[in-house]
Amino acid sequence: MAIRQRTTDVLVIGGGMAGLCAAVRALQQGAKVLLIEKGTRFGGSMALSNGTIWSFADAAVLKRHVPEGDPTLQEMLVEQLPEAFDWLTQLGVQLEPEFVFLNYGRARRTAPAQMTTTLLEHIVVLGGEALHGVAMQELRMRDGEVTGVLAFDASGPVEIHARSVIVATGGFQGNPDLVARYITPTSDTLYLRSNPWSTGDGLLAAQVAGAATTPLLHTFYGHAMCAPPARFNRLEFQAMSHKYGQMAVALNMEGERFADESVGTGEELLNSHIARQCGCRAVYVFDAAVGERALEGTPLARVVADRARQAGAPMIQAGSLDELTRQMGEWGVPPPKALRSMHTYNEAIVSGNHEALMPPRRAHRYPVATPPFTAALVQASITFTCGGIFTDIDMRVLRRSSSVSSLALVTADVSELQTQPIANLFAAGCDVGGFSGRGYVGGLSQALVTGRIAGEEAGRLGRRRR
Ligand SMILES: Cc1cc2nc3c(=O)[nH]c(=O)nc-3n(C[C@H](O)[C@H](O)[C@H](O)COP(=O)(O)OP(=O)(O)OC[C@H]3O[C@@H](n4cnc5c(N)ncnc54)[C@H](O)[C@@H]3O)c2cc1C
Repeated sequence: MAIRQRTTDVLVIGGGMAGLCAAVRALQQGAKVLLIEKGTRFGGSMALSNGTIWSFADAAVLKRHVPEGDPTLQEMLVEQLPEAFDWLTQLGVQLEPEFVFLNYGRARRTAPAQMTTTLLEHIVVLGGEALHGVAMQELRMRDGEVTGVLAFDASGPVEIHARSVIVATGGFQGNPDLVARYITPTSDTLYLRSNPWSTGDGLLAAQVAGAATTPLLHTFYGHAMCAPPARFNRLEFQAMSHKYGQMAVALNMEGERFADESVGTGEELLNSHIARQCGCRAVYVFDAAVGERALEGTPLARVVADRARQAGAPMIQAGSLDELTRQMGEWGVPPPKALRSMHTYNEAIVSGNHEALMPPRRAHRYPVATPPFTAALVQASITFTCGGIFTDIDMRVLRRSSSVSSLALVTADVSELQTQPIANLFAAGCDVGGFSGRGYVGGLSQALVTGRIAGEEAGRLGRRRR
């Protein structure tokens, strides 16, 4: 049977935030555009998100909070975000007025469903096509140039010829092999807090085509969530996330503190430490005072604990730390060690001798002293991967020969680093590395800005070659 054939100027792979933005932008350049989406719906993880499109207010603040990553890409993100907001508004996407986010950022809130519908409508009105249930498997190449893809839908294989291809498949968090290789050997106990289809297809296909990857492939974004046997669905990811963790005391299953809970752009850094603990698990301990203490952008710990109980998550409440840690024994946490860890923490915080704590506690230094005390068994999750395909600021995918390790970046003269793009190949959204790392710059803003650029560049290229 002959493989079905299709031809387009620009092929966008992935119908999430980055892919939808890329498709509309490429159509605005006058290119013929086809978007394929592997899932049963459009919107990717964006459809599950809060819809808070945010990033840092300026590049210097970003650099202070996220010192790793590619400064050129990061600066570009901060610079281009206001223009990208205007673009979305002009398209009819409803954005709330800008507000200050977590003291260091700027944000505008949107409704993901309305944004998805509006972007899809523009694709149709501008003469493009968007298909779901079609998965890219591999990139097709001739003479070192990308010429299209091999994809599969319910009817079998389809060969799509394109003058330019944009991969926007949303990262590799849904691929247990890749997560085990790069992130944690216990990937089977890491919750997938994302759409289920982002399995690294963009990264794997681009690598076969010769693409370079960025440093920090082990970094990712996520939040600790209610541990089993809690039951929840994808639309409850937010409600089941224990984002107050930076104010709690986190103990591993050995009953020991293992990280400074308080550091990072949010609870995501603590979550990434939990992902490397036994079973990807930890216990968040807090008292009645912390339970009512507001941490900007996160629900109260008491509210999260109530929701967790209702979902059937392992939770303990007790009038004393002795009783709390005794009951933690039922989870396999040794009570004497857990109690000792809590006393050591409290003594250091109350005496002001927190410098001596190992691991230290740099912020949110609250004693766990006001009953009742709560212990929540949590499990780490992965929302998206932060390392990925290496691109330039036009979102052109760069060849492996131009790949550099972080160490080489420190030791090499910049003029020695030659970067060559793979002809006709672009990347956008979470498939692109170099923005976040051990800190977080905003997933939707990254997808919006990179999708828009990739669409513009690929659209121009596709139209010119017609
Ligand atoms: C619960 C939750 C809350 C969040 N809240 C926020 C927030 O408030 N603010 C924020 O900035 N970020 C938030 N995020 C993160 C944000 O949603 C992502 O960073 C963003 O959606 C990334 O955009 P993307 O286009 O790269 O990936 P996605 O939006 O996930 O889209 C990728 C798409 O590619 C498709 N795909 C994968 N493989 C293939 C293939 N082989 N062929 C065709 N298609 C393929 C997938 O099915 C998917 O639809 C949240 C995420 C979650 C899960």
